[in-house]
Amino acid sequence: MKLIRFGRPSEERPGLILPDGRRIDASGFGTDYDEVFFGSGGLERLARWLARDGGTAPVVPDGVRLGPPLCRPSKIVCIGLNYRDHARETGQEVPKEPVIFFKATSAICGPNDDVVIPKGGSKLDWEVELAVVMGRRAVYVDRDEALGYVAGYLLHNDYSERAFQLERGGQWVKGKSCDTFAPLGPFLATPDELRDVHDLQLWLKVNGETKQCSSTRELVFDVPTLVSYISQFMTLLPGDIISTGTPPGVGLGHRPPRYLAAGDEVDLGIDGLGSARQRVRAGGFTAM
Ligand code: ZN
Repeated sequence: MKLIRFGRPSEERPGLILPDGRRIDASGFGTDYDEVFFGSGGLERLARWLARDGGTAPVVPDGVRLGPPLCRPSKIVCIGLNYRDHARETGQEVPKEPVIFFKATSAICGPNDDVVIPKGGSKLDWEVELAVVMGRRAVYVDRDEALGYVAGYLLHNDYSERAFQLERGGQWVKGKSCDTFAPLGPFLATPDELRDVHDLQLWLKVNGETKQCSSTRELVFDVPTLVSYISQFMTLLPGDIISTGTPPGVGLGHRPPRYLAAGDEVDLGIDGLGSARQRVRAGGFTAM
């Protein structure tokens, strides 16, 4: 299944993309795609609802805004330097263990929402990433069983303000967490929608020029390793997101570095997980 949410910010409703591409309103299913949904067999119930009632569900109108395809989860765990070439590009060693850091969940927005340059920001950068959504509570999970804990996958642009991240002291979270820095989607794909999550092309363009183009074959630590690894340090809750890291070609890696400016357009996509477009806007983020 391909799960979407649509409507105005904070008022999104659940929906689905059917195999023929039609988008239907799943409000009739009765619950949104949140922690309780993922943690209580919601995907199985949704599949049954779809088989029974999907044919008569209202169609989502063209032009309606897409929101993030799941409700705000308890956490976004990001992985740093998880593509061999990207580690080289940033001048850092390929890590011996996964590098993990947090991104505030208030950064989450819809896949095609504007990305906003924060006040005082000057080094806005892009990072196309495969993100994993947890389907079960995961604590001390063995690698062999880890994929059984995954609800699905989605496209994520792990936006970063490099000056905040690298020049202001402390942890990376500072440069990763501004509002609009985590556009998710267009949709959440359940694992059966993907032939092989470790063989997906991912790409990103700025103003039509290709900046990132790689494959999840290049991951240093694969999805089951990451799920198992993180679960040794914290409980992953249903709906939690693991963003698996970015391939080479970020602005920081350009010589000289190339950062985003107001008016730039960023397009990105992953095989089987759709594509998204964000326009860069200046002015700092405001309360929604
Ligand atoms: Zn990242």
